[in-house]
Amino acid sequence: MDRVDLAIVGGGVIGALIAREAVAAFPDATVAVLERGLIGQGASGRSAGVHFPRGTTERVRSMSEHSQWVWEHLAAELDLPIRAVGATVVAAGDADAVSATYLRLGDESAPARGRAVPPGSRAWDLDGCHYADVRAVAERVLAGLRDRVTVWEGTEVTDLSFDGEHHRLALGPGQELLARRAVLAPGPWIAHPAWAGLVAPLGLRVKKVVAAHLEEIPAPGDPLVVFHDEDAFLLPLHERGHYLFSYTCNRWDVTPDDIGLGLEPSDLDDARAALGRFAPGLVARCTSGRVFCDAYSLHREPVVAELLPGLVFAGAANGSGYRLAPAIAAETVAALDLTPIGATSPLPQRQA
Ligand SMILES: Cc1cc2nc3c(=O)[nH]c(=O)nc-3n(C[C@H](O)[C@H](O)[C@H](O)COP(=O)(O)OP(=O)(O)OC[C@H]3O[C@@H](n4cnc5c(N)ncnc54)[C@H](O)[C@@H]3O)c2cc1C
Repeated sequence: MDRVDLAIVGGGVIGALIAREAVAAFPDATVAVLERGLIGQGASGRSAGVHFPRGTTERVRSMSEHSQWVWEHLAAELDLPIRAVGATVVAAGDADAVSATYLRLGDESAPARGRAVPPGSRAWDLDGCHYADVRAVAERVLAGLRDRVTVWEGTEVTDLSFDGEHHRLALGPGQELLARRAVLAPGPWIAHPAWAGLVAPLGLRVKKVVAAHLEEIPAPGDPLVVFHDEDAFLLPLHERGHYLFSYTCNRWDVTPDDIGLGLEPSDLDDARAALGRFAPGLVARCTSGRVFCDAYSLHREPVVAELLPGLVFAGAANGSGYRLAPAIAAETVAALDLTPIGATSPLPQRQA
């Protein structure tokens, strides 16, 4: 049987960042990432990948600040597909709520600057925003760790058990893995039979997430426009040659294996209705999009929680799992004790 110090279940952006954080904190630890499909092809693969420095609670604001710092440094270090973008926050009025939420809010700007600003709204410049190809980010982060982290793709974790000392992971292809510590970073797969009972007390739910694509080529320098009151944004995807419109979809308790990857007719209707409130001129260009789902928490903050001794759940970032991934990873690794058991009894490594 293979043994590791740390098994990370889920090779999305959060699992990848946890792997990176773990080897940085515990360079001698043996680490494996178990991914039932391919790296970055769960929720991360559908993500709009927008980072804006904001948070409605002190913890999320601090996580946002930390994550921004990490993304900026990692982008340069690993040449990640992360692109800085200017941004405007638009709100109907309550300037106090806006300034309490955003960390790098600049001066109030002329509403005319954004193309999609409803009459009567106010607008502020927002610094520090970027967007990323999240699947490629997860792949590259793990590619840079391959000398220290074993990545098992096509490997579903089908069962989990704990003997009081080690976590035993049964793997789809028939192997077993024994881990001193384990992390569940399953994205929206919170109800997998292997851990549904352990995760249920967290009270998480899964919500459909939809972003429409607009057949409109962004002009150089077009900003990201964040509609604060509606929790929506309009993003110029320069390298893809179109805009993306993200709005709040309120379809709850979906399951990732059933949601499908195609839009339903009501998705485009909803997107057009929301877009029409900000930019009626773009409604006719709202013709396609991306759909998946994400895990949400009761308190709308990401969850890092120990389920059993040495077994930590990480995720449920409420549609913000890309932008907060570095901070989620830092909290997760802080919750794991991976100090060596003893230099004289290292755990055996995986056999080739
Ligand atoms: C359309 C859309 C737009 C979004 N836009 C943004 C945005 O602009 N900004 C932002 O910050 N966030 C955004 N999000 C949210 C963000 O993408 C997610 O919060 C984030 O990708 C979650 O990462 P994760 O690693 O937890 O999950 P995932 O990427 O889903 O990774 C979990 C992995 O676990 C694997 N897995 C599950 N079960 C098993 C098992 N039994 N064994 C082995 N592996 C397993 C899955 O295959 C999957 O690859 C968006 C999401 C969607 C769907």
